[in-house]
Formats: sequence, C-alpha cells, structure tokens
Amino acid sequence: MQTVRDLAALRAAVALLPRPLAFVPTMGALHEGHLTLVREARAHAASVVASIFVNPMQFGANEDLSRYPRPEAEDAALLSAEGVALLWLPPVEAIYPPGFATTVSVSGVSEGLCGASRPGHFDGVATIVAKLFNQVRPDLAFFGEKDWQQLAVIRRMAADLDMAIAIHGVPTVREADGLALSSRNQYLSADERARAVALPDTLAALALAISAGAPVDSALADARGRLERAGFAVDYVAAVDGSMSPVTEGVERVLAAARLGSTRLIDNMPVR
Ligand code: AMP
Repeated sequence: MQTVRDLAALRAAVALLPRPLAFVPTMGALHEGHLTLVREARAHAASVVASIFVNPMQFGANEDLSRYPRPEAEDAALLSAEGVALLWLPPVEAIYPPGFATTVSVSGVSEGLCGASRPGHFDGVATIVAKLFNQVRPDLAFFGEKDWQQLAVIRRMAADLDMAIAIHGVPTVREADGLALSSRNQYLSADERARAVALPDTLAALALAISAGAPVDSALADARGRLERAGFAVDYVAAVDGSMSPVTEGVERVLAAARLGSTRLIDNMPVR
C-alpha cells in the first residue's frame, strides 16, 4: 500500500491504478465497520483508495474534534492488510488552504435529525466528500448505512451535481450485543458501554412495533422513554420515509441520536 500526503502525489498515484477504482473515505480510528466497507469496495473494483481525514468543518464548536482518536500507524496497517492500494492522508492545510471559501450545502435531506442537532455538520460532510471525490476521482464510493442521513445527503449531492460515481451503502456492522461499531465507542466508560446496548435494543423494538401496526407517535414516545430510563439524553428518535421525511405512515427507517455522558451515539434500523 502506498501512502500519500500531498495532492500532486495522489493524482500521480491514482493515474496508475487499475480501474474501476473504489473509494472509502474515513476519519480513521478504524474498526470492522470501516474494514467491511473496504472488503465491499474490493469486491466491486480493481483497486481501492482509502482516505483518513478528521474533517474540522463537520465538527461543531463544542464537539470532540480535539479528542477524536488518531491511531495513524495502526490504521495504515489495517488498510494495508485489507489490500487497499493507496492511502490518502491529507494534512488540514491541503484540504482547507488560506482563502478557502466554498461550501457544498444539500438542503432538504440534511435539515432534520442530525442536521438539526448539529448545525453545519452536513455542510461539512458534503463539502469534504465533494472535495475528496474531485481529488481521488473514483468510479465507485462506499459509505456505511450506520450514518443513514449522511448516506442520503451524499446520494442527493452526487445526483444533483452529476458526479459520475456509483454510491454504495453498506449495512451496519455491530458488536455481539447489537451496539453499532463506532470510533466513538471507545469514549464510553464500562458502565456507559453496558447501558449503550439500549440504543439498538430500543430501535429494534420500535421498528418491530411500527411494522406490527402500532401508532407511530406513541411508539416513538415509548422509545424515547426507554432510552431516557437507560440513562441517555435523547437528541431525537424519528421514523422516516424513503426521502428522510418524518412520517406516521409508510415508515421505512427508524433513527435515533442520544448521548451517554459526553458521548453522542447514533443508530438506525429498517422497518419491514
Ligand atoms: P467515519 O470514520 O466514522 O467517518 O466513518 C467512515 C465510514 O465508515 C462512513 O461511511 C461510515 O458510515 C462507515 N461506518 C462507520 N461505522 C460503521 C459500522 N458500524 N458499520 C458500517 N459502516 C460504518
């Protein structure tokens, strides 16, 4: 695996890679969820480029940018072992040079849920993903369903801006007890980790209740109460349709974001 840290070297290296070329953007602190994206990418492409960039633009002022884990050597070894051809590790100045003034903003799908509780977050996501797409110029790109709203924002952006990149969503990889793998799980204390399983448990019960015909509003209220009893401070619990709009009929997905202590966790599940 080749590792590059400047844009000219990236472009020169990408030009030599066999196509189709798949791209897996990450913020590092890699786990089996990220590695599953890489494996899916390898199954669909002749070469895989991964990136690690902890994007300041998608963190709010009081969020965890400074404490976000950055185990660079371990991450590089994991990606290399998975057969990644090229690792793009841009320094912040290469992404946001002095004078940088452009924001990609996707309206509608990015406005509720995490967009409401993290103002500016999805502008940061759309802007960095658009930049990374222009830098790497992949044929396909892989994102986790764990970040369901993010995936919807990226699909919307790619379609609206005629980006000739096939966007693939990959199902959420979970711990044995159901907790979705996340780089942020390592912030949890042992006690918080034990209580965190209430998030997937609650969403699974909510999805089941809605699919069995329970009134959506009361099912959402029950889910919120269950999370609060487990010690979560709830940002939202929501039931949405295929275009991410909150609905009481035709629910396709349930989503929640909630904090245990200082750690904000998100998860989502399909309603069948
Ligand atoms: P991050 O490093 O958190 O920005 O995540 C990079 C990519 O990995 C995103 O597309 C995430 O949706 C995806 N991802 C993170 N956690 C998981 C998981 N547990 N299962 C599947 N994909 C994941």
